[in-house]
Amino acid sequence: MTVQGFFSARTNAAAQSYAMPRIAVIGRGFSGMMMAIALLKTVRFPFHLQLFDPNSSVSGGQALASGHSSEILNSRVRDLSVSAGDPDDFNQWLSGNAPFRSAVPAAIPGFLQIFVPKSIFSDYVYQRFSEAFSSRRDVAVQVSSETVFGLRRVRGGRFVVESDGAVNAPFDMVVLATGYGITDQETQASDLVTVPTTVRARRLVSRPHTILLGSGLRVVDRLLQMRENGYTGQITIVSRRGFLPQSHTRNNADPVFPADEMPGNLSEIIRFIRKACGEAEANGQSWQSVMNGLRKHARSLWRSLPAGQKQQFNRHLRALYDSHRNRLPEALHVRLKQELAEGNTLLRRGHFMRRTPTGLVLRPAGRQETEQLYADDVIDCRCQAPDLNAPLLRSLIDTGLAVPDELGLGLAVEAAGALEVNGRTTEGLFAIGPLGLGSLPDIDLVPEIVTQAYAAAESVAERFHPQCKAV
Ligand SMILES: Cc1cc2nc3c(=O)[nH]c(=O)nc-3n(C[C@H](O)[C@H](O)[C@H](O)COP(=O)(O)OP(=O)(O)OC[C@H]3O[C@@H](n4cnc5c(N)ncnc54)[C@H](O)[C@@H]3O)c2cc1C
Repeated sequence: MTVQGFFSARTNAAAQSYAMPRIAVIGRGFSGMMMAIALLKTVRFPFHLQLFDPNSSVSGGQALASGHSSEILNSRVRDLSVSAGDPDDFNQWLSGNAPFRSAVPAAIPGFLQIFVPKSIFSDYVYQRFSEAFSSRRDVAVQVSSETVFGLRRVRGGRFVVESDGAVNAPFDMVVLATGYGITDQETQASDLVTVPTTVRARRLVSRPHTILLGSGLRVVDRLLQMRENGYTGQITIVSRRGFLPQSHTRNNADPVFPADEMPGNLSEIIRFIRKACGEAEANGQSWQSVMNGLRKHARSLWRSLPAGQKQQFNRHLRALYDSHRNRLPEALHVRLKQELAEGNTLLRRGHFMRRTPTGLVLRPAGRQETEQLYADDVIDCRCQAPDLNAPLLRSLIDTGLAVPDELGLGLAVEAAGALEVNGRTTEGLFAIGPLGLGSLPDIDLVPEIVTQAYAAAESVAERFHPQCKAV
């Protein structure tokens, strides 16, 4: 959905007032839209909100933009509410949505435990944003289809946003919600529905062959989409560690976690979690419940680990952890297992060395020598960390407004997203969502982003109007 038309009238009328605090949100993916909702619902005084993103649609960024009806989100409805303190909000929205209601079996009484297509979640987020905006006649919202390539602090602690568009007046507050960086969403969406039939080089294998690089949710999405669209060729998944997403359970997997004190060292923590999973299974619960419980402790646990152990976790355990936290709905997991069992899809563990005109070069796990894999197409489905050399992030780091986190995965932030430099927060500057992944575990997931966005909005409210906080 494009947004320029929707906003222009209100923008023109309200943007006259330069006395209002000016807030810039850079990125209109899920984190950016969530931040806008949180600001509109939390900050009571009038303000000017400008949303920057070269992608002209409000479609939910990387996770949701490509969503078409067959693509299912991997979180249950109960974990996807965008309303602070009301986990039932998405369920309520679905219940009031007549086309959705008529499409699901009447036997399902409520929707809290089910999985829904990405496109529906995207509609829900957009509607909650529109409602929050409509209820605030005192707020001016401006949508700019511009790429931001720098931020400069000027007198009075305000920020000049440098973009490839018009020159803007300085902002009092800037929220970075640039997630995984700029992607061409048009291409991304159409890639998913186009079966790669073009033979890019002389075929060196007897039948069509596509290589998918990566092992996370994107690989599974792409694999199942290709099959749904009729691709019958061979597919090889090339993954460094080979951990594909695990399955959700049929039951609710409500969080459980032992009350005992957690050990302070990584290998003992792993033993502790393994034991907890074993005990849960023995008691008729599931390891998934323990993983859900662990998420509630992850932040304090992460904070307590020394830098060396965090690095060890990142190098050796992150892929395994991700495969257990980013789980597939059971039905999709069954389809993935069938694919692998039938032999038409292979999983190869190894280190991707380089692309070649006829495929790629792989160093298989545990071997020294490399191997050429021939393929008609190689599709990169790896989830890359934010690029700290992207011009915007580079400008922040070079001018001392931000520093990389200790793992170099993103920027150092505190829980509410305020940027941290040498233990002190940078006044007026926030990073919401995956940019904070090296500082805050699971901050790339919806519930954590929602909590962080509301916490950041509270800080904004307090900064500009200490005596008048949340609505
Ligand atoms: C396939 C997939 C499935 C997922 N499923 C789930 C799920 O089921 N449950 C769950 O909790 N989480 C899920 N996630 C994770 C989660 O939803 C994402 O981490 C989250 O949506 C991140 O959103 P974002 O807005 O921070 O980043 P992005 O989606 O990367 O959006 C960033 C936006 O910023 C813009 N931008 C970047 N740089 C600039 C710049 N310099 N100037 C202007 N604009 C810029 C980009 O154009 C983009 O639109 C999934 C993620 C993926 C990829």
